[in-house]
Amino acid sequence: MTGIGFEILARDGAARLGRLSTAHGTIETPVFMPLGTAGSVKAMTPDGVAATGARIILGNTYHLMLRPGAERIAALGGLHPFMNWPHAILTDSGGFQVMSLASLRKISEDGVEFRSHLDGSRHLLTPERSVEIQRLLGADITMAFDECTPYPAEREAVEASMELSMRWAERSRQAFVPRPGRGIFGIVQGGVHPDLRQRSAARLVEIGFDGYAIGGLAIGEGQDTTFAMVEATAPALPEDRPRYLMGVGKPADLVGAVRRGVDMFDCVLPTRSGRTAQAFTREGTLNLRNARHADDPAPLDPECRCPACAGFSRAYLHHLTKSGEILASMLLTAHNLTYYADLMLGLRKAIAEGRLADFAFGGAAP
Ligand SMILES: [Zn+2]
Repeated sequence: MTGIGFEILARDGAARLGRLSTAHGTIETPVFMPLGTAGSVKAMTPDGVAATGARIILGNTYHLMLRPGAERIAALGGLHPFMNWPHAILTDSGGFQVMSLASLRKISEDGVEFRSHLDGSRHLLTPERSVEIQRLLGADITMAFDECTPYPAEREAVEASMELSMRWAERSRQAFVPRPGRGIFGIVQGGVHPDLRQRSAARLVEIGFDGYAIGGLAIGEGQDTTFAMVEATAPALPEDRPRYLMGVGKPADLVGAVRRGVDMFDCVLPTRSGRTAQAFTREGTLNLRNARHADDPAPLDPECRCPACAGFSRAYLHHLTKSGEILASMLLTAHNLTYYADLMLGLRKAIAEGRLADFAFGGAAP
């Protein structure tokens, strides 16, 4: 088999319970993918990440191409052995981070020329080079190279940016080398304009991808608009291919998007929050720095199965965060990723049992 497999096992309204098959295992969807930014899920060992239930993580082309370099990782056998992660990896195209981190960017029809935020060295990222880097990394799922449309922006600018991304999508598709268990996803753009989103989706479907992402959202447009764009886009995508809402989001965003037919998610929130003393629990978000936890012997979340909740009190976690101990980041990241994994597990169960309409997961009830 070339490409990746996707099978829909059950439906509840627009929501789907699915199974994604890759060169590095199968993944039950809807799924949340932790960020493995620079070849590591921050503050976590690969075993710890897998213990949360994660079977797919995200790697960042921009970070890895600059350091340690895609060719070096390829010579060391690819990103899976390099970071000792035996499960699936989706890599982004680098487009988003070139726009948010690099300096002196120059966008042309060819691609984006930029200077590294690390050492000022010059680089050119084109659709062809982005896809090549993702192949060198050994990605199970490659993302098409696109332009990150700024928000807010005039409709004309959004339209021109979307059209450029569609030409880059076609070049990305052509540059992709088909291999067993590996696939490439196209990315729908079009800002907050439903007609542009639909035109973008139609163009991508015409090119033909293994899966389809909805990009350029969760950048300040608000949840109602995010959901409206998902509603405008999802029906324009093929029923039998996975749909990935990029960079989203808060627990309630995930629940709402799953209800609208999205299968895959990634977000910096659970990992970043874990390093800033924020914990997601079934009773809402907690800030462990808060003095009200100083004498509390209770676990973070009595229903959670993670290592932080198994043996530690809120008082101890408060102490660790106040003392700047590395263990605080480790435990809270493990907890937050477990919370997100269990939220998705709960959503999958609810779809299988046809009771998604009544789904509630503590603080994640939308
Ligand atoms: Zn926990």
